[in-house]
Amino acid sequence: MSIRSYLTRYLGENGSLKRAMPGFVPRPQQQTVAAAIEAAMATPGGIALVEAGTGVGKTLAYLLPALQHARPNCRIVISTHTLALQSQLAEKDVPLAQSVWKKPVEAAVVKGRGNYLCLQDMDAARSDLWTVGDPQFMQIAKWSHTSGSGDVAELDFTYPNWSEIRANPDTCKQQECRFFDRCFYYRMRREAQEAEILLVNHALFLSDLAVRRSGEPDAKLLPDYDFVVFDEAHHLETAAAAAFGIAFSSARLPALMDKLRRTARSLDMNLERLKAIENSSQALFEPFLHGGRPEFVVSDILRGEPALQSARAQAAAIGTLLDSTATELLKQDTGGQPALKDRVDGLRRQCVRAKEELTLAFGGDDANFVRWGSLGRQRRGPSATINWTPVSVAPILQAALWKQPRPVGAALISATLSTDGGFGYVRHRLGISDADPQVTETIVGSPFDYPQNCLLYLPRHLPMPSDDPGYAYDAASEMLALLEASKGGAFLLFTSYRAMNAAYDQITQSELPYPLLRQGEMPNPRLIQTFKEEKNAVLFGTQSFWEGVDIPGADLRLVIIDRLPFAVPDSPLHKARVDEITASGGDWFNDFALPQAQLRLKQGFGRLIRTSRDRGVVAILDTRLVRKTYGQRFLQFLPPARRVYDLAEVETFYQEQESALPIAK
Ligand code: SF4
Repeated sequence: MSIRSYLTRYLGENGSLKRAMPGFVPRPQQQTVAAAIEAAMATPGGIALVEAGTGVGKTLAYLLPALQHARPNCRIVISTHTLALQSQLAEKDVPLAQSVWKKPVEAAVVKGRGNYLCLQDMDAARSDLWTVGDPQFMQIAKWSHTSGSGDVAELDFTYPNWSEIRANPDTCKQQECRFFDRCFYYRMRREAQEAEILLVNHALFLSDLAVRRSGEPDAKLLPDYDFVVFDEAHHLETAAAAAFGIAFSSARLPALMDKLRRTARSLDMNLERLKAIENSSQALFEPFLHGGRPEFVVSDILRGEPALQSARAQAAAIGTLLDSTATELLKQDTGGQPALKDRVDGLRRQCVRAKEELTLAFGGDDANFVRWGSLGRQRRGPSATINWTPVSVAPILQAALWKQPRPVGAALISATLSTDGGFGYVRHRLGISDADPQVTETIVGSPFDYPQNCLLYLPRHLPMPSDDPGYAYDAASEMLALLEASKGGAFLLFTSYRAMNAAYDQITQSELPYPLLRQGEMPNPRLIQTFKEEKNAVLFGTQSFWEGVDIPGADLRLVIIDRLPFAVPDSPLHKARVDEITASGGDWFNDFALPQAQLRLKQGFGRLIRTSRDRGVVAILDTRLVRKTYGQRFLQFLPPARRVYDLAEVETFYQEQESALPIAK
């Protein structure tokens, strides 16, 4: 059967999906995407780059070719950025696709090891003091007997001590483990070995690539595969940078020393050395905790090469103490107690790994890596993390994935992957050669009627954005006028907390009669839930609300974007990337900063129209869009909403829509 005819049979006007799925609307865009992915799967080493606008139905567009090609000697991996999409695929999309497909295809969900309960560590924890009388631990103990998967996602509460009982490579004894036959993690791996389609996330897929780089035949987290579909592919660069880099937190060694002290009660250990490690770690991280900036270049905080050398020496000295602790653990007499022996072995491996990663975080030397820090909070209080991150993942992905001797094909798909109407930026960032004839490019727009259903409001009268308080006042006044026109039901997306707080403070004083929700006042999922439950709510958010939030219907009818989302110029990783591009003769603004902001703007815009019935206004207050020549490079590639420049047209739009919009719930 030809590609087109089988795709039509499933996705067409009289196709099986239309019969199986109430409300399924055949879309030519979906068939185009499916055909592109099908062609890549049929070509050894084929790579399809696909941008599919909102509403195309991209998951079915890759699942059907995946079902067509998957077989015992051709395994297909589907990788998502978020666990939410992975769950949606596992629970909804894959069963639906399988239900219309004639031949049975085995699919398995594979998550990172840390998602699964470790029966060995659970058994050891039962006799630990910290679990005594803990009702949540008792619940988990009960669940461990009834759960089919041991996956933490099955728990309906967040267990703060999960890291003590989850599977982890340092404590795992594999085949030698007393619980191996019942082990949740290894059961999942056996199922994965039998499956023809694997559902994973980017972090796991890329960690597998990182592990495989050692070249050892058994060094892998996933079974071998022939093709990988990256959904949410715009996250691939960030996920790869995390997987191939190191992040060492100031909380790590104190937590490890705590565990060692708890176990040391049954052993003969040098407790002073544990204290010395903890104190040295504290001294090493101290300057960063008080650096004052949320992200920083390590050498900026340490001020100069001698201080950096001294930090490296401190890290090396801690490494020596960790080595001694590991040796001491190796010599311990565990008195024939298997549980104690398991724990001692695990702690020893954790010491060895901590030494390796600490050494790399402070002493790693590679021109393609940058050493930078970030501040955060952990259970014990403020923490600092030292990161050792690849500046460019392109050469790493080329070696680990695109240029493998055994050709692995790939499809990279997202609603926001192209810039300037092409894939030059993403190819360059990910190391996919422009000259590779096996690579195809497909861009399909959304099937939604943007000209009819959506306005893009550009208030040309506003001044150019600046840090001037007068500008913040003007911008917030414009937001207020828009909120009055829409009667709430809005997302206000900001590029900085400072701008968000300034606008929030001004708008709260206006007596606007709608609930105002601000990021940080409650966890993000609760904030979104509250937004859905309240009438005509207004949500103020920064980066995390620009994408991945799906609010279909009239609850969300206005999206306001305060500025073009250029990356923060003093972010160390961004700066290192800019320096690298400049040093190699590139144009950092046009080839890097601007395309990156284009993608981000499309993501923010994409929050508004989620279904064919949604209607509303996207307002972008940044007048660089109309005053700078590069503004066209943003506007040209946004969804084709009708552009207006006058607030009166926005007001008219909402008045006309009022009958169609159930504004008040
Ligand atoms: S095999 Fe490893 S992960 Fe599984 S129960 Fe044993 S130690 Fe835990």
